[in-house]
Amino acid sequence: MADGLTTGTLECLYTGSVWAEGPLWVPSSQTVRWSDIPNNRILEFHPGTGATREYAQDVEFTNGRTLDVDGSVVQCSHGRRRVERDKDGTVTGLVDSFQGHRLNSPNDVVIARDGSIWFTDPPYGILPGTREGHEGEQEYGGCHVFRLDAASGTLAAVITDLVHPNGLAFSPDEALLYVADTAGPGYGVPLRIVAYEVRDAVCGPGRVVVELPDGQAADGLRVDVEGRIWTSAGPAVRVYSPSFELLASIDVPETVSNLCFGGPDGRDLYITATTSLYRIRTSTRDAAGLNVPPTHH
Ligand code: MG
Repeated sequence: MADGLTTGTLECLYTGSVWAEGPLWVPSSQTVRWSDIPNNRILEFHPGTGATREYAQDVEFTNGRTLDVDGSVVQCSHGRRRVERDKDGTVTGLVDSFQGHRLNSPNDVVIARDGSIWFTDPPYGILPGTREGHEGEQEYGGCHVFRLDAASGTLAAVITDLVHPNGLAFSPDEALLYVADTAGPGYGVPLRIVAYEVRDAVCGPGRVVVELPDGQAADGLRVDVEGRIWTSAGPAVRVYSPSFELLASIDVPETVSNLCFGGPDGRDLYITATTSLYRIRTSTRDAAGLNVPPTHH
């Protein structure tokens, strides 16, 4: 594609998932870790060897994950209805309830520079007939975006007006939080990305900045150092400018769920898409600093 954002061609690195999600570059192991949700396992691809191995199984349907400043991985578990930490293979819960009610099924997560953990809580892991968790009730009666103050353990509902909040990412200056809403026309809303101004850990009113055609959900998204939004969009990855113009569309042979920047220099884009993991070389890297850990202040 002659947009300057990607070079080379899309490579398929692994096939064998049922529904691949939640990719993350893990610097300590120089691997891409992701969830195969219906198979209830976590996989890792090692670009040095080209091999994929099963990192863990019977994981209670993990989904999205992100890197914390100490190098541990914070991930969502549909089955445990919680956000949890994997530190060197030891998994511990961080939060599983809001005002005395269980969470739905946390889907995706990011960590701000102040160390707070922001995550979405749609119902995909508790719906009737789900293959991505266990059937259950929506106990607090909504699908919120939450902010967990990791130091105090305080959980705050920061966004309550989306139908099915899913992927999320901050702008490089953390002044905006972008959240995908994957509910879609069946719920009376378009598939969309909504931007919220963030000030003092509180979100202002949402503004719809991207609408996507039916069937092309922005499930997972990332923001690069130039503030561009890289999002899943059906059988493609779309790239939007910081002013929300469509800059590029990368065709992928399967429906894309999510993506992450990674590789030794952070400029490889890894894409989870249904049964497979794909990679394409880019000219940029993640704003959240996968290879440059954020500084706490
Ligand atoms: Mg998701």
